[in-house]
Amino acid sequence: MLNGRVALVTGSTSGIGLAIADALAGQGADLVLNGFGEATAIETIRGGLAARHGVRVIHVAADMAKPAEIDSLIAAGERQFGRIDILVNNAGIQHTSPVESFPSDKWEQIIAINLSACFYTTRAVLPGMRGRGWGRIVNIASVHGLVASVDKSAYVAAKHGLIGLTRTVALETARSPVTCNAICPGWVLTPLVEQQIQARAERDGLTRDEAMTRLVSEKMPSGDPVVPAALGQLVVYLCSPAADQIRGAALPVDGAWTAQ
Ligand code: NAD
Repeated sequence: MLNGRVALVTGSTSGIGLAIADALAGQGADLVLNGFGEATAIETIRGGLAARHGVRVIHVAADMAKPAEIDSLIAAGERQFGRIDILVNNAGIQHTSPVESFPSDKWEQIIAINLSACFYTTRAVLPGMRGRGWGRIVNIASVHGLVASVDKSAYVAAKHGLIGLTRTVALETARSPVTCNAICPGWVLTPLVEQQIQARAERDGLTRDEAMTRLVSEKMPSGDPVVPAALGQLVVYLCSPAADQIRGAALPVDGAWTAQ
C-alpha cells in the first residue's frame, strides 16, 4: 500500500517508534530512522528492517532537541530519497517531579523534544508534501495530551501543546491532500515506561510485574497495556485512503483511561 512512499519516524531506534517504522516498512515504505543508541545496535535494526521488508532504510542521528540538526535530518532524508511523504513525530522523553522541584533543564529538554521538534519537522516537510500532492503527519502525543497526572508538568504541557499544533496544522492543510493527526496512547510497554515501573517497584518494595500491574490498572480500566505493534497498525491506517478525512483528530488508544 505504501510502495514508493518515504516515511521519517523520529525516535525510531526503540519502543513505539521502532514498531511504527516496522509497520510502515511492512507496507513497502522506505524509511528514515532517527534516534539514539549504540552504533552496532542501530545498524542491526536498520539492516533488519531493510532485509525483512525489502525497503531502503537509512538512519540519521539528529538530536531532536536541536533545530539545526532537525533541518539536517529532513535534508538528509530528502537528499537520499528525494521526498518525505509520511512524518511521524514520535521522539519523546519523560521526567517526573513535583512542579516546585522540577529541574529547569528537564523542563526545557522535554518541551524541546516532545513539542518544539514537532513544529520544526512539520514546517520543514509541509512544502514538499503540498507540492507533491500527498502527505501524512502523525504526532505521537499521549493520553497526557488530553488529561493530566501528577509530577508530569512538562510532559503534560508538551503533549497538550502537541495536540494544539496537530489541530492547527490540520486546519491549515484542510483543503489539501495532507492530513495531520495525533495518537494518544495510554501505557505502552517500552523502555520509557520500564523506567517508571522500576521506580515504582523500588519505591513500594514490589516485584517488577507487581509494579507494572499496579501502574497500568491505576489508570487503564482494561488493566492491560497497549502493544507497540497496535500503534504501528493505526499509523498504517491513517496513511490509507480510508483515513483521507480523518483530520485534526486526537485518537486515544488507552484501554478507556480517558473515558472516565
Ligand atoms: P522510548 O524511550 O522507548 O523511545 C524513545 C525514542 O526517542 C528512542 O528511539 C530514543 O533514542 C529517541 N530519542 C529520545 N531523545 C531523543 C532526541 N533528543 N533526539 C532524537 N531521538 C531521541 O520511548 P517510547 O515509550 O517508545 O515513546 C515514544 C513516544 O511515545 C514518546 O513521544 C512518548 O511520549 C510517547 N508515548 C509513550 C507512551 C508509553 O507508555 N510508552 C505512552 C504515551 C505516549
